[in-house]
Amino acid sequence: MLLTKVRQLAYVPTAAQGESPSSWITRAALSQGVRIRAFTNFLGWKFAYDWDQDILFTRAFGHEVATMPELVGLSEATNLISALLVARAFRGSHLLYRSSGAGRSAPFSRYCVECLEEAVSPFFRVQWRFQNWRYCPKHECLLEDACPSCGIPPCLPISMMCAKRQGGILRSLKHCGKCGLLLTKLAPVTLQQARLAGISDADLATMQRVQAHIEEISHSGSSDADLPHRMSARKPEVFVESFSMPSTIIDATQARRRLGLLPPVAMPAVYPYPVADR
Ligand SMILES: [Zn+2]
Ligand SMILES: [Zn+2]
Repeated sequence: MLLTKVRQLAYVPTAAQGESPSSWITRAALSQGVRIRAFTNFLGWKFAYDWDQDILFTRAFGHEVATMPELVGLSEATNLISALLVARAFRGSHLLYRSSGAGRSAPFSRYCVECLEEAVSPFFRVQWRFQNWRYCPKHECLLEDACPSCGIPPCLPISMMCAKRQGGILRSLKHCGKCGLLLTKLAPVTLQQARLAGISDADLATMQRVQAHIEEISHSGSSDADLPHRMSARKPEVFVESFSMPSTIIDATQARRRLGLLPPVAMPAVYPYPVADR
């Protein structure tokens, strides 16, 4: 049903390898010139709070994704999200990135400045949703935690069609969905700089181990049907544990503060996204 609907559309963007479903929905809705809600209504899907974790949506993609070349790029997401849903049953809900503080549990994402900068059509990777996916292996820099201008982490999908935000107009996913300014206007913190800021060799080894684990799952080809089996063989607690790292490992905002690179904009006390507005 879902794919029949997608096939009826012209000019649907091809999902990039590793793209998150919420990122693809954002770009696909823009390609049709409609808001997110109109697009997902057309697909016959109920508006979700977190598209990257919508199990039915994930299943629909997971089972059929390989039959549509435009959507093959989402297969890493379907593998990871399936794993996440199983992990959640074992108290693994902390695996996703949340900005610290009460009431801040929106579907946030970190991002790599260079990845957004170099893509012809900027997109968000599903791995960036993970709490402990901290650096970009390609560009060897820490991921950014929030928009440098307003202090709010990216949160997808966004209706880019009508996203006239204060300070600017949203032109691509390189722009902040809240304030409209460029997410990429600052140089990333390189891993070398991160070492100067206090990330030790042991910290780096931990980061690499966790990311290798996430990477492995994203390419595992596991469906949500066979995953519980494989996980029970490996013990779910061990599986969830393998995503975790010490809270003492600093993020890009802390590193920048320590290096005196740029005064970070603090996240507002109240998260200003009305979810229904997306
Ligand atoms: Zn990157
Ligand atoms: Zn912003």
